[in-house]
Amino acid sequence: MQVKAKLYPKEAARLLREHPGVREAVTGATLHFEEGRKRAYQEIDAEAWRERAKRVKDHLLTHLDHYLELAEKRLQEKGVRVHWAEDPEEAHRILREIVARHGVKRVVKAKSMLTEELGVNPLLESLGVEVYETDLGEYLIQLLGEPPSHIVGPAIHLALPDIQRLFHQRFGTPLDASPEALAAVARKVLREAFLTADLGISGANFLVAETGTLALMENEGNIRLSTSLPRVHVAFVGIEKLLPRFADLALFLPLTARAATGQRLSTYVSLIQGPAKEGEEGPKEVHVVLVDHGRTSLLHDPEAWEVLRCLRCGACLNACPVYRQTGGHPYGYVYSGPIGAVLDPGLLGLEDTYPLPYASTLCGACYEACPVKIPIPKLLLTWRQRAVERGLAPTWEKGAMQAFSKVMQSPSLYRLFSKALRGLPLPQDLLPLLKAWTEGRGPLRPSPKPFHELWQELNKE
Ligand code: SF4
Repeated sequence: MQVKAKLYPKEAARLLREHPGVREAVTGATLHFEEGRKRAYQEIDAEAWRERAKRVKDHLLTHLDHYLELAEKRLQEKGVRVHWAEDPEEAHRILREIVARHGVKRVVKAKSMLTEELGVNPLLESLGVEVYETDLGEYLIQLLGEPPSHIVGPAIHLALPDIQRLFHQRFGTPLDASPEALAAVARKVLREAFLTADLGISGANFLVAETGTLALMENEGNIRLSTSLPRVHVAFVGIEKLLPRFADLALFLPLTARAATGQRLSTYVSLIQGPAKEGEEGPKEVHVVLVDHGRTSLLHDPEAWEVLRCLRCGACLNACPVYRQTGGHPYGYVYSGPIGAVLDPGLLGLEDTYPLPYASTLCGACYEACPVKIPIPKLLLTWRQRAVERGLAPTWEKGAMQAFSKVMQSPSLYRLFSKALRGLPLPQDLLPLLKAWTEGRGPLRPSPKPFHELWQELNKE
């Protein structure tokens, strides 16, 4: 897929200016998810669960070669055809061959960030194959021709009137159609697609190495239909998605659900154990494509590898005050928010994703939310430091930071500077460097009194 991460500040400002409703939609939905996660974490010893999950993933990642071979062996024993794809081109070649061999004309797809990463839909469309995204949110953005805005809620940036307008144009439904009526229209279209598709494509939340089991979590039932009705199923799995033991699912399935949506467990969990046997219903052919696409080199990065623990639960996005302002589109790549800011530079290179590690206040809320304790603030600083070392950061920033450091180390300079700053008029035009920031916000109004004066007054009282 096309990467536009370099344009992040401009795109964020443009979105805030041209689509102010997105901020409200994303903030509302992420706060709802975040409250659910907090409630769900309070019901358990979240610290102990997160620590355990972190250790399991660290063990997996530090023995990945062993578990990948084991997974391949177990999958093959179950009759699954295993493929290895180092990059999107190899993944495309594998899929092209499967499509040609089975004469595939129609595909139903379960929601999968990896298939977004690989550009599976454009490939299939270029082959003349009809593709249906079957997750309701994914279906909406497919109709709009947009990429996902959130890992778990791809259409999180849309409000009900947006969807009513879309369905009115596409299906002739009334402009005030209820959410139930809109869902019924989508269900009718997708039912037909499920029943007539030649191929089902999915990702996987987990692949258990010990048993060769694919585990998929969802709430709509569309993943189960996509992976069980068509005669062929292809699952694209990132190599970091493995779990060592079947018993690990007892921790990871509920922990992921709690982190993602605040549920104790997702409504559906599908455990796929290979193709249907004689007399059974289900796909006669199951393929697993194990995808690297930059993960191995990231694993070798001693300062950045921990990001590979990611479960793609989206909890860090929901917790992030920066992501909440715009949703995922301005980030310019599949993975947005805090996880995108530390994963995208690792997968695509810092040169193509440079501003993303700066899309954070470093408040640490992402770390608190993360079910596998990925130290996102620390990783953001690592990528920022590298950006400075590689000369990617603007030169004025270096000078500004040096001046800032001097001022912060000297109480008298600090007082002088803060007084001068408060006395200045601060219309946006006087601060062209802050234009991208100020465009989407009200004018800057410094407090008439500095914090230390307010603090002294408070103490006197
Ligand atoms: S970094 Fe953590 S919180 Fe964010 S998507 Fe990955 S697992 Fe979830």
